[in-house]
Amino acid sequence: MLEIEQLCYRFAGDHSENMKFDLSVGAGEVLSLIGPSGSGKSTLLSLIAGFLKPERGHIRVHGQAIEHIPASQRPVTIVFQQHNLFPHLDLFTNVALGINPSLKLSQQQDQVIIDALDSLGLTGLENRKPGELSGGQRQRVALARALVRDRSILLLDEAFAALGPALRAELITLVKALVERKQMAALLVSHQPRDALIASDRTAFIHDGRVIAVQPTRQLLENPDLVEVRTYLGSM
Ligand code: ADP
Ligand code: MG
Repeated sequence: MLEIEQLCYRFAGDHSENMKFDLSVGAGEVLSLIGPSGSGKSTLLSLIAGFLKPERGHIRVHGQAIEHIPASQRPVTIVFQQHNLFPHLDLFTNVALGINPSLKLSQQQDQVIIDALDSLGLTGLENRKPGELSGGQRQRVALARALVRDRSILLLDEAFAALGPALRAELITLVKALVERKQMAALLVSHQPRDALIASDRTAFIHDGRVIAVQPTRQLLENPDLVEVRTYLGSM
């Protein structure tokens, strides 16, 4: 469903080799993305989201090339570790901003928000401000805001890194179920191998701007044949 083909990028002034990505994610799949710090995980996500412009290569969603479409019009939504909620607005309004920045919502859109809050266990907290929520709840709000946008590609860039193991597992399980139900395609960047085990049948390993392995998660983590993967896991 999401296909990345020979997608090349180089930061201005960077004299090292081009980053060049190849990867595909199926409908209903959460593919985990692991790799050393600085290997290009966030860069790949930014290219998919449209925040960076590739030198060449293709990003296809359902066979349709999207690399020339502006970020705001891509069928992509991204969640970061910093949740970027507005502290002065309540939970409902923060989520509503995902649908329409002018906040003029139809009854149907109101219902979409109510359903998203329900599926993320946030019902009853609609009037709270972000400062009145726990860290886990705030990341749920960020997820709800991403989901109401109803885009088919979900990118999570260390979105749950600030949370403890139990909460992370809970949110990842939730994401997995939602991605399956909505038949989205998701990429999950995490530094915790356990996250990949929970989230993903397949995991991709990035090294020096290349996806050098895509393997069943357990195999990649527990019996890695590549020295780069062994080094990464060993240094954790
Ligand atoms: P990761 O998310 O895997 O830790 P990044 O994608 O953030 O890695 O970074 C990949 C490489 O690109 C790193 O070497 C980093 O220093 C470089 N880089 C990231 N952002 C910029 C930037 N805005 N300008 C120049 N180089 C950058
Ligand atoms: Mg990063």
